[in-house]
Amino acid sequence: MATISLKNVSKKWAGFTGVDALSLDIADGEFLVLLGPSGCGKTTTMRMIAGLETISDGEIWIGDRVVNTLEPKDRDIAMVFQSYGLYPTMSVYENIRFPLRVRKVPRETHHERVMRAAAMVELGDFLERRPAALSGGQRQRVALARAIVRQPTVFLMDEPLSNLDAKLRVSTRAQIKNLHHELKTTTIYVTHDQIEAMTLADRVVVMNRGIVQQVGTPMQIYDRPANTFVAGFIGSPAMNLIEGDIRSGVFTATNMRVEGLAGMPDGPVTLGFRAEDAGVADRGGQISAPVYSMELLGDASMVTVQCGKALAAVKTPKDFRIAIGAPVGITVPASICHFFDARSGHRIE
Ligand code: ATP
Repeated sequence: MATISLKNVSKKWAGFTGVDALSLDIADGEFLVLLGPSGCGKTTTMRMIAGLETISDGEIWIGDRVVNTLEPKDRDIAMVFQSYGLYPTMSVYENIRFPLRVRKVPRETHHERVMRAAAMVELGDFLERRPAALSGGQRQRVALARAIVRQPTVFLMDEPLSNLDAKLRVSTRAQIKNLHHELKTTTIYVTHDQIEAMTLADRVVVMNRGIVQQVGTPMQIYDRPANTFVAGFIGSPAMNLIEGDIRSGVFTATNMRVEGLAGMPDGPVTLGFRAEDAGVADRGGQISAPVYSMELLGDASMVTVQCGKALAAVKTPKDFRIAIGAPVGITVPASICHFFDARSGHRIE
């Protein structure tokens, strides 16, 4: 069983905490994504699981054993990095075969295993080439095949798509998803790209400054972000966040008024809503402001208005057009609003 458990795992360097008391249970076969901005501690977490970084506190379990002091090579983990780490003088075939040679896997099984791994990532036609004669996407697929060929109990992937151009990233992402569907190997995947996280993950762990902000399925995190950090990180665009006040069930902010909030306590609050949930009003609406920008996205258009200090984006049908500076009303009914504590940023139920 390749379950993984982190129990209060921390990483501290003289006076600085990179990962703070992280606890997490990863199920056998799960695809877990660690998501967060640069410096949030995701690579450090991954490296601690791999055994490439010592841990300052806590326990890491893989299956039924604590691996805190186990060498990386004894953890039965295969890693895929953004820099592909291929051997330039070896052919694709030999690169894929390399882990089998190092681990003294019986020679007579090598060919079949290499060919199977190469076929899974569609590299069958490139086996004689050197890495220098491959595109970035093909190199990353060699790195994937080299991880697959070992049949490890866990895959760790650290931003494996970040060196690929936008189009290749989408196709390689689909390939990784498909591979996981076939192999069902427990996978931990690090990224700062929320779209990668949403599309690949069974569950997402959102991190900021070494601290877990929320753990949940992509839809749980999208539908009910636990705080303003998560709300402002997930979604494309991220959730609009407007600071204002509630009095007697009415939220007010510059250019904005939302009624029907009976039961909400009076006081300062941050209101959130998603661009795709709001709309342009025929007349009236909860926001009245001049158009700040108007963008064509192809499948939709996006109108942005200024709301006090904040900008608020609204997705409209693709053929909607309006001039910059023209007055517009935006519909933000209470039913689409999320509320966060003005001070702590925590979600208010
Ligand atoms: P990125 O997306 O940029 O790779 P990350 O979320 O993976 O970022 P980490 O590499 O895990 O971030 O680093 C977490 C924090 O720990 C950062 O603030 C980093 O500067 C710090 N850090 C990492 N390695 C060390 C080290 N050896 N000594 C001191 N601080 C470190």
